[in-house]
Amino acid sequence: MDGVRLGRVDDGQLHFESRLGHHYIQVPTMASQVIRTIYLDMDDVCNTLAPHIAHFMGCPIQPDSYDNYPGQFGYATEDVVNHFLGTKFTVKGFWPILPQFLWASVPTTDFFPWLLETCCSLVGKENVILATRPILSPACVAGKMEWILEFCPPWLQKQISITTCKDRLARSDTLLIDDHEKNIQQFCARYGWGIIVPRPWNCLSERDPQSHIASCLKKFEFYNRGPLK
Ligand SMILES: [Mg+2]
Repeated sequence: MDGVRLGRVDDGQLHFESRLGHHYIQVPTMASQVIRTIYLDMDDVCNTLAPHIAHFMGCPIQPDSYDNYPGQFGYATEDVVNHFLGTKFTVKGFWPILPQFLWASVPTTDFFPWLLETCCSLVGKENVILATRPILSPACVAGKMEWILEFCPPWLQKQISITTCKDRLARSDTLLIDDHEKNIQQFCARYGWGIIVPRPWNCLSERDPQSHIASCLKKFEFYNRGPLK
């Protein structure tokens, strides 16, 4: 940006001069509620990670269903395992032992194709991004990457954000769809928008995920400029 002189903001665009002439870029304004980018949480939104882990560890839970998954332990999957198996796993002792193939083989949710298609229709394919927070384990990161290559369409494989700080992706024109209430709170604290996906461990546990997401999406205005040329 050497030689750039910042200029005026006009019609939502920042105009400026550089050595190469006049330029402008789109500037989101705080007043805008038009969503241009959608971030999709991966675990327990696009896939069924929590029941998959519980099943893998030997709990009487189907890997692709939340029907018998207890909600009282919150996000602590290790406590769900302890509850069923009588083990004494701690956070530090539990998560690092999960192997790469477990992360790579999580079933997709039944509404994953609908969610992708719906988001693409609202903001355009190039503005739908997968966002996932890995635990600090090489097996997790590698397994998540395997999952993406196995279960996501090629275009989405090139639009991923593997990050430990999803909230830093927030802007006033971005929407995060995530099952973790804290993620949504932090995203909204940075002026993004959020939809909480109902799961047994969160405040919307009684609701159907797909119909809840669909009804929430109707409350937003979306900007879809069509395919990039
Ligand atoms: Mg999640």
